[in-house]
This record gives sequence, C-alpha cells and structure tokens, in this order.
Amino acid sequence: MVAGKKGEEGGGEYKMQITLLDKNKEKTFASFLIKDSTPAYVNSLRRTIINQVPTMAIEDVDFKKNNSILYDEIIAHRLGLVVLSTDIKSYNIPSECNCKGKGCMKCTLKMTLKAKGPGYVYASEIKSKDPKIKPVYPKTIIAKLLKDQEIELEATAMLGEGRDHIKWSPALVFYTYNPAITVNNKSKKFDEFKNKYPPQVFDSSGKIDKKLITGNLIDACEGVCDDVVNIEYDDKSFIFNIESWGQLTYKEIVTKSIDILNKELDGFEKQLTKK
Ligand SMILES: [Zn+2]
Repeated sequence: MVAGKKGEEGGGEYKMQITLLDKNKEKTFASFLIKDSTPAYVNSLRRTIINQVPTMAIEDVDFKKNNSILYDEIIAHRLGLVVLSTDIKSYNIPSECNCKGKGCMKCTLKMTLKAKGPGYVYASEIKSKDPKIKPVYPKTIIAKLLKDQEIELEATAMLGEGRDHIKWSPALVFYTYNPAITVNNKSKKFDEFKNKYPPQVFDSSGKIDKKLITGNLIDACEGVCDDVVNIEYDDKSFIFNIESWGQLTYKEIVTKSIDILNKELDGFEKQLTKK
C-alpha cells in the first residue's frame, strides 16, 4: 500500500490528498492539509514518526576523567539528549546491522569530549569522527567547570527509535481537524457579539477577516455566535503539523515514516494471506 495513491486493489474510495500549507526555511517545520483520510491513518503516521523514525544520539559514555560537581550519570544523560544531525542512509540500527548489535562502523560512531575549567562546556566541544554527525545546537551547555575541574570522555552515538528512548524521537507531531470557517459581517447579531471576539481577528476596517482566524484563535471564535462566525469540522480532513527537533528535515522524517508504515502494512498483509 502506498500512502497518497489512488485506491489500489481493495482500496475502494481511498483518494487521500496532501497539500503543503507552510514550512520554514530550515526545513524543520511543516504543516500539511490531509484530505480524504481518517483519524486512524493520520494518527498512525504521527505515532510512526514519534516512535519509529530513527535518529542518532549518544548511548554509551566511557569516562576517563570527571572531577566536576556532576556525577558521571548526569553528564551521560545530558550528552544523550544532545541533538545530533543524522545521516539516516549511512547508518544501521545496531540490532538490524550485520554485526548483530556488537557495534561496527555501520552502526556506531565514536565521539570525544575533553574540557578543562573554569567555564562552561558546550556541545560544540564534542569531537565527532563523522563530519556529518555533529551537535545541531552548538551552544547546548553540558556542564559548568570550576578551576582545575576536568572532563574527559569517549562517547558512542548510534541510531535508535523514540519507542526505546525519547532522545531518539525526531519530532513533535500533532494534528487537528481542518475547520471550515464561515464569516458573516452583515449578521444582525454582529454589533451585539463583536466585543466577544479576540481583537486579532478584525481587519483595519473593523470587520472580522476569515484569514486571521488561525491557530488558537479558532477555538476562541468557536461558539461565540454561530451567525457571525460559524466553525465546523469534518473527520476526513486534517491539518498535520511536524516540528523536527533538528536531527532530520521534515521531508526526511515524513518520507521515512511512510516507508516504515508501508513495510509494516505489507508485512501484515503477508501474514494475513499466509496459508
Ligand atoms: Zn554494526
């Protein structure tokens, strides 16, 4: 099964349409309009992204020196949460690698950190053996060292999935039903109710502008007076938002999640047709 394709055998009325509504120039955020779908499908996509699209994160830390005020465990935990740019095509998840999880060049990456106080230790000081995999936010603070305090360690980063630990989750994903908004500025009740609407939805001439009713303002306008602003939802069209933590672009995340979902559905189909 392929998401977005017209109904294949047994697919029937399946004609999902996806339109890109908005994105940022870093390609870490995108908003889509998904039409003719179901809450089950959209939620499967959301869960696949959060739980199964892999990213790189530090998993093991070997301390050579640490006389800072922070325990080894705390520093290791903080290192695990450092967002690393991810090259999804060049690495395997260790358990799926040819080395069977022992750890090799295809599934693990060594990183080192050596710092001496006084001063802050930043993520930018982590040295990676692969130039493609490095901290996305160099100013992330890992520790604060006083005079004569030192940290020296070797860390191992690997691909993992959000279902094992949230540090591997690639994005924040959420969706809402797509609202159908009707505005009637000529309503007899307009004067009576206009003060009940948030000021942000009025244009310079004092009329309510449908285009200004977005985000939280939709909820604020709903139910005030259906004669003036009427908001309706159907359970077939959705606004799907994806905000990457920075490891992957929204495109890589969505493409990979559809791959994973399709593979799982194929596997499910095979199991069903087995005799
Ligand atoms: Zn391996």
